[in-house]
Amino acid sequence: MARPDPVAVVGAGPVGLCLALALAQQDVAVVLVEAMTDGNFLDQVPRAGSNHPTTLELFDRIGLYEKMEPRGLIAPKFHYWDRQDNALIAEFDHALLKDDTKFPYVLQCERIKIIEEALKLSKAHPLIEVRMATEFTGFERKAEAVAIEAKNAAGEREMFRASYLVSCEGARSIARKELNLEFEGFTYPERTINIEVAYDFRKHGYTERNYISDPVEYSNLFHWKGPPDRWRIHFPTNIDDDENELKRPEALQTRLRQFLGIDHDFEICGCNLYTVHQRVAAKFRVGRVVLAGDAAHVNSPIGGMGLNSGVHDAFNLADKLARILHGEASDTELDRYERQRRHVAVQHTQAQTIRNKRLLEERDPAVRRRNHDELRRQAEDPALARKFLLRTALFDSLREAERIS
Ligand SMILES: Cc1cc2nc3c(=O)[nH]c(=O)nc-3n(C[C@H](O)[C@H](O)[C@H](O)COP(=O)(O)OP(=O)(O)OC[C@H]3O[C@@H](n4cnc5c(N)ncnc54)[C@H](O)[C@@H]3O)c2cc1C
Repeated sequence: MARPDPVAVVGAGPVGLCLALALAQQDVAVVLVEAMTDGNFLDQVPRAGSNHPTTLELFDRIGLYEKMEPRGLIAPKFHYWDRQDNALIAEFDHALLKDDTKFPYVLQCERIKIIEEALKLSKAHPLIEVRMATEFTGFERKAEAVAIEAKNAAGEREMFRASYLVSCEGARSIARKELNLEFEGFTYPERTINIEVAYDFRKHGYTERNYISDPVEYSNLFHWKGPPDRWRIHFPTNIDDDENELKRPEALQTRLRQFLGIDHDFEICGCNLYTVHQRVAAKFRVGRVVLAGDAAHVNSPIGGMGLNSGVHDAFNLADKLARILHGEASDTELDRYERQRRHVAVQHTQAQTIRNKRLLEERDPAVRRRNHDELRRQAEDPALARKFLLRTALFDSLREAERIS
């Protein structure tokens, strides 16, 4: 039997690369289109990097985990802190999930390292044709296929046929816009500043991942493997703060000094400002065009759910597309993909990340006290703590999606 047309995957971010590898592993040919070049692919601003156990299991399926582990930090624990009292509220330990997963920890491994390793694996796979420096510009829907339009490295327009088009283009997905799909939700008015600093915060009691509540200036603090080891600390900023002023080296030093309450000169490795959106596409598939990852849903990074849930989309979709293309399932399986993963995006990822932000920025002292007491209660009881971790590590969302027919 002739091979079906390849699946066109647009975007070599973590979601597109995982999708390509998971499809190829199931004997499906893929054309992977990426606008960035080999020369600038690794020049991207720092983003995700806390990889939950559920995602590590999926990375393991495509041989990616073993490449990532040596480049990352194993982080079994995470903390909630109260900045007002400079006190640890609660510590959660993934060791409680030892009977649930082969990976009872989060792997702190930045997005840039994940895509570097996954791109190497994709280029080495005979069923994946990687087209770097190729910008997807649009598509035409045909009865039995999709015609993909792109601009290649030489600036020439080219077209090719694909059985399906999966947009893993990130939040600005052209496919989503061409389909006129609403990106429903909202954008927070303030921006977040991320400061990268070579300083060991463990001296102050912090662990590899920390969520720090404060009615004035909440924060998140994460440890990344170097050399040199770096910590990323995020602070909210006001909507009308001037970007240059925020990024001025002395202003960054002052923020860090105030945060730790010490007089110290920090080695700052970088900083960037980002805007946070909470949005989900109205549909995840229209005929032979499917959305996955940030193209389908975006959310606040508090809780590390964007990349993780996007990778979960990729594997869910790969299994369904492979069965469809091998003639073992009907195309309506893609409607189930939409039902499952849109449910997760709305009911889990959006709901949880909105709650996470509220928890950290809560201003009402009585509500703060109640929230912190509740976190303490859950952390201190192993059964409740395991339940808490099954939710934060995204086991609950996967199990619930599996029950959706
Ligand atoms: C500061 C910050 C911290 C974060 N921390 C976490 C975290 O700890 N954990 C977590 O789970 N998530 C986190 N996230 C979210 C996470 O970064 C994203 O959810 C994730 O990168 C989405 O992956 P993706 O592959 O869908 O899209 P992207 O990573 O955006 O990749 C899209 C790719 O498509 C390419 N592309 C775009 N348009 C075209 C086109 N027209 N033609 C060809 N190629 C194209 C781009 O060049 C890019 O390579 C964070 C986000 C931010 C901003």
